Amino acid sequence: MAKQGTQRAIRCYHCRHQFEVGGRAMTTSCPKCSKPLLVDDVEVKTLEAVRKIQTCGRLVVRKKGHVIAQLVEAHGGIDVEGIMEANALSGATVRIAAKAVWKGGCNAPSVIIEDGCRIAGGYFVVPDNSVVLQAAAAANGTETGVEAAGDAPAQPAPAAPGSPAPSVSVAGLRGDLPAVPLGPRPPQKSQSPSSRVRR
Ligand SMILES: [Zn+2]
Repeated sequence: MAKQGTQRAIRCYHCRHQFEVGGRAMTTSCPKCSKPLLVDDVEVKTLEAVRKIQTCGRLVVRKKGHVIAQLVEAHGGIDVEGIMEANALSGATVRIAAKAVWKGGCNAPSVIIEDGCRIAGGYFVVPDNSVVLQAAAAANGTETGVEAAGDAPAQPAPAAPGSPAPSVSVAGLRGDLPAVPLGPRPPQKSQSPSSRVRR
């Protein structure tokens, strides 16, 4: 998938820092927390019983593959044709193929559950964009999901000119609240406009 010579954005699975690596890199280390990172895809063809599997790439569990882990984190997505017993955190679509068995939780931006697979318990949170790459992923063209971010306001709120960082939650609630003045407001100590929002 990764083209030669291209940079691609990845996210550190230790500290969530996002940065770019060369398209052919298989491992790297995070410039922020200095921990080693697996960038390459992981393919499981046999029994793989480990504490955790973490990669910035994809995890593919083949037909005879069987993952038993406490945690699986794959930022490039997870594709299961075999057996998956783990709590999984995915940064892209999870596919559970027709004859696959899935046992465990799943947090992913989207999930494809094919007819005939078996899901034996687990708590699914979909969409979950907690490890999805922001912004830079769009340039990549393959992994988006940013557009589905849950915090996007339904109706476009007119941006006040001169306000540097518009708070999405405030904009969305503008109907119920008087416009939040950024100017002097004596006794209240508040860090940001959003901290004042009450639901
Ligand atoms: Zn890091």
